Amino acid sequence: MSAFVGYRVLVVDRISGRFLEGLREAGLEVEYRPGISRDVLLDIIKGFDVLVFRGGIVVDREVIDRGLRLRVLARYGVGLDNVDVDHAVSRGIAVVNAPTASSQSVAELTIGLIIVALRSLHLHIDSVKRGVWSKGLYKGRELYGKKLGVIGFGRIGSRVARLAAAIGARVLAYDVRDVREAVESVGGELVGLEDLLVESDIVTLHVPLTPSTYRMMNEGRLRLLKDDAILVNTSRGPVVDYEALLKHIERLGAVALDVLDEEPPRSPTLRKLVEHPKVIVTPHIGAETIEAMERVGEELLAGILEVLGVEAPNPRARSAT
Ligand code: NAD
Repeated sequence: MSAFVGYRVLVVDRISGRFLEGLREAGLEVEYRPGISRDVLLDIIKGFDVLVFRGGIVVDREVIDRGLRLRVLARYGVGLDNVDVDHAVSRGIAVVNAPTASSQSVAELTIGLIIVALRSLHLHIDSVKRGVWSKGLYKGRELYGKKLGVIGFGRIGSRVARLAAAIGARVLAYDVRDVREAVESVGGELVGLEDLLVESDIVTLHVPLTPSTYRMMNEGRLRLLKDDAILVNTSRGPVVDYEALLKHIERLGAVALDVLDEEPPRSPTLRKLVEHPKVIVTPHIGAETIEAMERVGEELLAGILEVLGVEAPNPRARSAT
């Protein structure tokens, strides 16, 4: 460990050891308090220069204003929807995250969920465990030749498209940015949102959570989906209207969700969905791979040290620990 460089870091979510070691090796003092209550956070934040968090807390105006010596807000992951970024920036506090680190992991999970849904794997696996040899009980379909509608053609959406195209899916894409070149590079077709919803066999959501994407998959848009279509969401829970989804579930082929409105799900609507045989839910594990977590740690450490003007620890010394 290097000499203390004068900066104190508060870590409020569960985070891997390697990243914490990196901070300490750079000479920062780390207080590791995963699961800390909001009241305690508000009480102690004034003593820290850096706040490191995942999705477990809301870093709003009050938290930011109490952080009298805050210099960096560091999101251990991608989404910044739990941070008041504008307010932080207006107070001269840098906001850093690791936007690319988990893209491959989320894209691979998305492809996995699509195949689980197409082959009813969740039902077969559950049946066999219960002693029922379910061969012939559930239908299976190929991804090859299916129309895959990708909504949000950014880091993750474009990777999902490339992976699916390699299997033989026909990619349709919709984005609010001009992504024509990226879509054409995977042999896909850029279309309007309505056309995508009407034509796709599988629709997969990869948009950020913003006012324009909140409840984007509402009653009107869910109604456009084909009977037997598959809907996949590995982006953010509030992008889908779950009351409306529940109304459409019987006519859809399957729904696969890695994210929900409320995690874990407790509301009657979400419980009904989660327990429905056509619904496949994973507990927000898109980025939960060893590789993604290591990459997040490396990107975030570099970002924090850059803002603070602290020299990065020797990576060889770090990997030897
Ligand atoms: P990105 O910013 O690279 O791509 C998002 C794309 O969505 C952009 O191209 C943007 O133009 C587009 N977009 C924005 N608003 C839109 C709208 N209204 N309609 C259509 N397109 C719109 O983001 P990314 O890194 O690909 O991440 C995508 C999503 O995945 C985010 O919500 C992120 O929080 C989520 N995510 C989930 C997990 C997980 O664990 N499941 C992990 C990482 C990221």
